[in-house]
Amino acid sequence: MDETALFKLTHGLYVLGTVDGDRPVGSVVDAVMQAANKPLVIALSCHNRSYTKECIERSRRFSLSVLSKDVDPFVVANFGFQSSRDIDKWDNVDYFIDNGLPYLKNGLARLSAIVTQVIAYESNTLFLAQVENCDNLEEGEPLTYNNYRDYFKDEVIKSFNEYKQRKEKEKSKMSDEGKKWVCTVCEYVYDGDVPFEELPDDWACPVCGVGKDMFELR
Ligand code: FE
Repeated sequence: MDETALFKLTHGLYVLGTVDGDRPVGSVVDAVMQAANKPLVIALSCHNRSYTKECIERSRRFSLSVLSKDVDPFVVANFGFQSSRDIDKWDNVDYFIDNGLPYLKNGLARLSAIVTQVIAYESNTLFLAQVENCDNLEEGEPLTYNNYRDYFKDEVIKSFNEYKQRKEKEKSKMSDEGKKWVCTVCEYVYDGDVPFEELPDDWACPVCGVGKDMFELR
């Protein structure tokens, strides 16, 4: 059996949203299809380790934002590469809340649905849900999972690495707050208006005359 045959089943790529109490949570999903026309039912499959899946089991409702081919790769990285268990993903994107559920502001379309049936498999949980509301937001072509695999993935990974570097920088800045650069030779504490990092390379300790490399952050 060659399971790559399953890659030839086409999927879109969507941002799934629900709430964890009052907190909006979400993830990226590809396994969504319309299952019936009357009533209007969609099927959604989530990985069992997904925190969003756990929250849908509790809230029994979810939203979908349809991604455009022009979507910022970071949106996919933000919702796809980290867990709502740890961070508030929606705070990193432009979004709005309608009737209690979060949606991307620049999605092509949006739907909300109420779960009517749940089927649990070893790896995934399948939700069958009745559409309660849906709307078109923007013109454009939907992003597919094949687009993602073919050319979009590298950009998504790049944007995620940039985001992580930004976060690291912010974190180290915060932990350095309140600390001072101190001369390790004479204990002089730098207190000038120019940030220590921006002082010229030939700057010297005004007390004992050693260079910047003899200072440390304490
Ligand atoms: Fe000194």
